Amino acid sequence: MELSPSNYQVGILGAGLTGLTTALALKRKGVSCKVWEQSSRPGGVIRSKVEQGFLVEEGPNSMLVKTARVNDWLGSLDLEKQLVSASETASKRFLVRDDQVLAMPAGLVPALRTPLYSARAKLRILKEPFVRKSTEADESVGSFVRRRLGHEFLDYGISCLVSGIYAGDPERLSIRHAFPKVWNLEQSHASLIRGAIALSRQRRRQKLPAFKSKMISYDDGLEVLVKRLARDLGSSLNTSVAMEQIGRTSEGKWRLRGRSGAEVFESEVDALVITMPRHQWDQLPFGSNVTADGQSLSAGLRAVDELEYPPLSTLVLGFPREAVDHALDGFGMLIPAAEKRFILGSIFSSSLFPHRAPDGQVALMNFIGGALQPERAALPEAELVDRTCRDLRELLGIRGQPSFVHHRFWPRAIPQYPVGHQEFLDQLGRLESRFPGLHIQGNYRGGPGLSDCIDNALELAEQLQPASAAT
Ligand SMILES: Cc1cc2nc3c(=O)[nH]c(=O)nc-3n(C[C@H](O)[C@H](O)[C@H](O)COP(=O)(O)OP(=O)(O)OC[C@H]3O[C@@H](n4cnc5c(N)ncnc54)[C@H](O)[C@@H]3O)c2cc1C
Repeated sequence: MELSPSNYQVGILGAGLTGLTTALALKRKGVSCKVWEQSSRPGGVIRSKVEQGFLVEEGPNSMLVKTARVNDWLGSLDLEKQLVSASETASKRFLVRDDQVLAMPAGLVPALRTPLYSARAKLRILKEPFVRKSTEADESVGSFVRRRLGHEFLDYGISCLVSGIYAGDPERLSIRHAFPKVWNLEQSHASLIRGAIALSRQRRRQKLPAFKSKMISYDDGLEVLVKRLARDLGSSLNTSVAMEQIGRTSEGKWRLRGRSGAEVFESEVDALVITMPRHQWDQLPFGSNVTADGQSLSAGLRAVDELEYPPLSTLVLGFPREAVDHALDGFGMLIPAAEKRFILGSIFSSSLFPHRAPDGQVALMNFIGGALQPERAALPEAELVDRTCRDLRELLGIRGQPSFVHHRFWPRAIPQYPVGHQEFLDQLGRLESRFPGLHIQGNYRGGPGLSDCIDNALELAEQLQPASAAT
């Protein structure tokens, strides 16, 4: 039988942002698609709640839209009225040094003027174009930044970015995979500064309209986005699914059997997409007859490198505005590990987007734990509040007890891209070529940010098509 988009079927395991976006992009191409989600609600780690007039994000709090493709996709969802852009002040970020909350420099010239860095560190940045390019296949973020820019810029710059995006450890994260653009600048221009200048000249010469990234959310929080994707998927989305068996038919299709609530279902699909976190792959009930080259798919998935997902607590605290001395006129404050504080940082949620706190109140979203202090994330809520308030009191001049507290513990939050992550990606690639019709895509492949997840899902949906249509 000739495969055309209308009789080509795709099954997707997991209805986080990756699974939902892939499914809707396929549906819009006319490809029939089913999504199976284990939990009773779609959206994965995206969770927005309203409590006592505070709009709380338990997981991601904002999306930095990085490409025109993601921007166009979001535009096509008919959510303009609910979309909110980050306030103007959000471009300002604060960083703590010697217990002072200082504005981070945005660009090279402000970096040379800021009191954040010593004269020696600034001179070191000027030497960057003359540092020799690495010939290694990969390197840790820590080693890369120390080598090119010096340790001060690592401790009081990049390590905070690492903490803000990955809640990670710069000595273990891969520069090549966690910050591929930075790695590529060194690879192609032997210098970050020379590379950045060359790229901006090239853009000007070619008159390429550079997409200006923008930070967004929705009036009722980021969950608005996944609710819209789920709504548009309609009956293609199944929640509360317990998959019982996944096998292969003699024609090479995937046959799935499971329960969705009380209902038993069976389905056959041409392509199967796994989007769930690495640590949940072992739950997938692939039959022992799903084999290739003498190895079962279950064994193949188990053999893929484990990924670290460090624990993280998000703690949203509300305070009366007059109880806070700091103007909170920015995105938030990052706290370098060298400062030996309890929290990793704090996002000034109510300064970032409207309606995050009731009138006269402010909301701060604090992060605790991560790869550097994993044990802290699991502390009892009362201790988290107490120790967080101590940091906020000393750094932001906050007085009294919080008027609002919302805590969420993430035992496994964000996947880390370690040095040598290429091997993990190669393992996925090898499995996909040994098991035709298998695709693995989630926040461990191509970036963990929401914008990365959408971009990668759209790319996958582009590639997923019947073999006959591809030729
Ligand atoms: C605390 C936190 C804060 C973050 N902050 C930001 C931020 O501010 N900005 C940003 O851009 N990014 C942020 N991120 C990262 C971003 O939110 C995630 O990388 C992204 O949402 C992941 O989407 P996903 O679909 O790949 O995975 P997930 O959201 O993990 O979705 C996977 C889905 O698979 C389902 N599943 C699991 N097992 C099965 C099974 N057996 N069968 C069927 N389904 C299954 C799960 O229930 C889940 O719904 C944050 C992440 C966390 C945890």
